[in-house]
Amino acid sequence: MKKIIELKQVYKDYPLAGISQTVLHDINFEVVPGEFVAIVGPSGNGKSTLLNLLTGIDHPSSGQVIVNGAALQNLSNERLSLWRGANLGIVFQFFQLLPSLNLLQNVMLPMDFLGKLSKTQRRQQAMQLLERVGLADACHRLPSQVSGGQQQRAAIARALANDPPLIVADEPTGNLDAATADDVFDLFAHLRDQGKTLVMVTHNETLAAAASRKLEIRCGRIHADTPAVAG
Ligand code: ADP
Ligand code: MG
Repeated sequence: MKKIIELKQVYKDYPLAGISQTVLHDINFEVVPGEFVAIVGPSGNGKSTLLNLLTGIDHPSSGQVIVNGAALQNLSNERLSLWRGANLGIVFQFFQLLPSLNLLQNVMLPMDFLGKLSKTQRRQQAMQLLERVGLADACHRLPSQVSGGQQQRAAIARALANDPPLIVADEPTGNLDAATADDVFDLFAHLRDQGKTLVMVTHNETLAAAASRKLEIRCGRIHADTPAVAG
């Protein structure tokens, strides 16, 4: 089957007080379209570093990262930004909405960047996405004028703006209370049911249980790679 993610012999070193420390050791794995991979493991063990390699936000010290057919290390920064806009939706723990733009403008941003749709189409598509996450009525509010859960739902709408095949999320419910986390969970479960590929770092057991596969990272290595138990 076609692979949407391939990591081959990936290492990542960071300098710490002048000495290089290896944060990821010989990471090899593949993901096929439609998988929902939960990345779990203690904090400080390399999970975010791994996600940043998948999105091209960071680059490996050695090894190959191939996502949706693109060898990320071969792309210039400009090509990488365009590639990311078309291929990836990214959801962060702290939402990262632009504070000076309202929710509608935030959701339109990835479409503005790709420049494939007219302004009217971009606005329509953004409104549809905000409706889908239950935020149509709040579309003209600034991020600071809505709750954390609403900001995260807007961030998910933004991640879906260009209908990317792959959604990557780093602890998307890490900053939300349990009830709000449930709303966000429902959105991800819906994406999973639609056949989107999801790779998500999470400490939330409900979210991890909804995954089709669990990748456990310990000390920068894949400690376990297990299909989720059915039921
Ligand atoms: P996790 O997401 O599992 O909590 P991280 O991937 O954020 O872990 O961090 C793994 C290790 O890499 C930690 O020891 C962290 O201090 C180190 N690290 C992460 N990013 C950097 C960076 N930009 N520079 C130096 N060290 C870093
Ligand atoms: Mg992290």
